[in-house]
Amino acid sequence: MLNYRNTIILFLIILAGFILADVFLSVHPGWYVGMGIVLLLLLIAGSIYIRLEFYIKSYSTGDRNQKRVAFSFDDGPDSGYTPVILDLLKQQGILAAFFVVGNKLEHNMEIIRRIDQEGHIMGGHSFSHHFFFDLFTVRRMKIELERTEEMVMRITGKKMKLFRPPYGVTNPVLARVIRKLGYHVIGWSLKSKDTVTGDSQVLLERLQKKVKGGDLILFHDTKPILSGVLPSFITFLKSEKYQIVRPDQLLNLEAYE
Ligand SMILES: [Zn+2]
Repeated sequence: MLNYRNTIILFLIILAGFILADVFLSVHPGWYVGMGIVLLLLLIAGSIYIRLEFYIKSYSTGDRNQKRVAFSFDDGPDSGYTPVILDLLKQQGILAAFFVVGNKLEHNMEIIRRIDQEGHIMGGHSFSHHFFFDLFTVRRMKIELERTEEMVMRITGKKMKLFRPPYGVTNPVLARVIRKLGYHVIGWSLKSKDTVTGDSQVLLERLQKKVKGGDLILFHDTKPILSGVLPSFITFLKSEKYQIVRPDQLLNLEAYE
């Protein structure tokens, strides 16, 4: 498997081969530059595409042979929209996962209690959701995850084991932190695009077209557009005989310690 470790080993072997070859017949510098570019592109792709599991194992898809899908919501709790989503899920009898941002918890404790009491699960999504989270040191990243975990623990008494990286970006630093804390990294297999699409009909049609068995769908409980999309999408899924399960069931994982 082409993961971070294997890639580095492979490139070191190729580099040694180049240097050795250089002794006998001169290797054009372009080969070294080309190799550097390929390595850089691989490292970037590995960072952006969580599903490649380049830096760390991640869970993004359930069994493709079963008509089961799951909903997940990032970036909350949001005092305005998370309760709307919770009402909607309750009416439809659906359980989901909420990947919460630590610095939003203190002012939304009631919502966290409600998420927990209504049977949904929670995972971490960093404390700050900082744009440059991926450039943080091991220490700073670890504090972000632990602070969020501690706050959820204080409110619900449960110790989270799931973490979804902000923007889905992974790197060797995050991989170290995750290993230290013993978390499971969660990705997604279908992005709803609720952060970029302003038209609920476009969003709905896209979801209906793309959804497949085993999909873990990424939504954001900060986006009002969802209240106009989710009821129709759920009706569609039910008419197509999809079962909507909680993400930990779809992925066969424990959400809490
Ligand atoms: Zn996010």
